[in-house]
Amino acid sequence: MARIVVLGAGFAGNTAALNLKKALGGRHEVIVVTPRKNFSYVPSLVWVGVGSMKPEKTQFDLTPVYKKHGIIFKNGAAEEIHPDGQDQFVVIKYPDGVKESINYDYLINATGPKLNYSATPGLGPDSGYSDSICTLPHAVKTRDNYLKAVDRMKQGKRQKFVVGTGHGTATCQGAAFEFIHNLEFDLNMRGVRNMADITWISNEPSLGDFGVGGVIVKKSGNFVSGKLFAESTFLEKGIKWVERAHVRKVENGSLNYITIDGAEGGLEFDFAMLIPPFAGVPISYRDKNGNDIKNQMCVPSGFMKVDADYDSSARPFDEWDTSDWPKTYNNQIYKNIFAAGIAFAPPHPISKPFKSPDGTSIVPSPPRTGMASGIIGHTVAMSIIDMIKKGEKEPAHYASMSKFGAICITSMGKSLTHGSAALLTMDPVVPDYEKYKFGRNLNYTFGDIGLAGHWVKYMLHYLFLWKMKGKFGWHIIPD
Ligand SMILES: Cc1cc2nc3c(=O)[nH]c(=O)nc-3n(C[C@H](O)[C@H](O)[C@H](O)COP(=O)(O)OP(=O)(O)OC[C@H]3O[C@@H](n4cnc5c(N)ncnc54)[C@H](O)[C@@H]3O)c2cc1C
Repeated sequence: MARIVVLGAGFAGNTAALNLKKALGGRHEVIVVTPRKNFSYVPSLVWVGVGSMKPEKTQFDLTPVYKKHGIIFKNGAAEEIHPDGQDQFVVIKYPDGVKESINYDYLINATGPKLNYSATPGLGPDSGYSDSICTLPHAVKTRDNYLKAVDRMKQGKRQKFVVGTGHGTATCQGAAFEFIHNLEFDLNMRGVRNMADITWISNEPSLGDFGVGGVIVKKSGNFVSGKLFAESTFLEKGIKWVERAHVRKVENGSLNYITIDGAEGGLEFDFAMLIPPFAGVPISYRDKNGNDIKNQMCVPSGFMKVDADYDSSARPFDEWDTSDWPKTYNNQIYKNIFAAGIAFAPPHPISKPFKSPDGTSIVPSPPRTGMASGIIGHTVAMSIIDMIKKGEKEPAHYASMSKFGAICITSMGKSLTHGSAALLTMDPVVPDYEKYKFGRNLNYTFGDIGLAGHWVKYMLHYLFLWKMKGKFGWHIIPD
């Protein structure tokens, strides 16, 4: 009997666990460890943050799901990984403080990100002055602060809203972009849009970069850039913007930034939703003698090293190659460990990196979206299944972000009759300029905007919750 321990139950971990159990059945053990009992459908938090979706619609209890599927559920947080020596194990801590060691034959690290608010002084909802929609509790707090601002506008007080990224290396520009459009849409619905000044601030080298180096799509025979698309939506809605910016400090009601060009500035706000940079979840790694081996296992930001070319980050942007990106997500020191979803360390950004004159790095980190996380979790599970069932020594399944594409549906307003969303597909995620003129296959890279996009986005919410709950036919729903 083999035991597979999966750390994390997000898109990557839950997809991996369900697929492992389906293929391996009762003869092998699948254990999921996660500190939160609930699965959270993070993409819909853009709606929770403006009060247009109830929080409970975005989550469900994992306990009955894992019980039904025969997956062992440990509601705790991984604190230590001991990958060396004869017995390999993780140490987990339960909410009551009790610790347990769990041996494994295969380990999947799918712990997602640590939300690294402390990288920018004053950032974040816990000990800072800005809001965030990266977790459900934070999205609920965001909604409450947003609704207070709405009340102030109803009382005749003009309000300033700032939305974007709270650090030069933050990711998830797409989520912030969705949020600003939903906020603008919701203010219209509440009849107070004329009382609001809305500003976008982002670390993208240009609008519409979205951390994937921008995108060009072919539409009605013309080439349209992500930049043109993003700028036109802001112009149409009267949203101002600051781009190429690193937020240096957030204070009560204001923030301060520097741009790639060295311009320094400030923005005042009554409400700010700023996405933090991500780091790896703090887990300690020990060899058989108890020595700290974290720097062998992880990059400095704490994400786990896999089969990527990490030396490539020292090369200039023009020399980065699609082959730098991992294919199997297998740790190269311990072949029974994998990292999936946000937990794996990318080799370098996708967008062109810049530094401001004072040496501050301003470059979006590569997004690893829910779709990519699901694909990677599934791929890793298939490799482990073959290693167990066929005795394969090496992982035999591949999913490089420079080979597979992505579908991004950017909500721009939630209403079944006059909502809207931009539907964008890109293939591949990491552009391949050797193969394609604009880095991507234009047959599969397209975009459109309209009410139908909102219906698709809304439908996907329920479809993916169905899949993540492991309900009837879950496995035929694509990742
Ligand atoms: C507001 C917002 C909107 C988004 N919209 C979209 C979208 O429209 N489409 C899209 O494709 N992507 C979207 N994304 C990105 C998507 O949510 C992420 O890519 C996805 O959640 C990553 O999945 P993951 O499994 O890697 O990590 P997560 O979903 O973060 O899951 C990590 C898991 O690890 C657990 N964990 C944490 N610490 C430990 C520990 N110490 N031990 C064990 N377990 C631990 C967590 O509890 C959680 O279960 C959005 C992101 C945000 C923030």
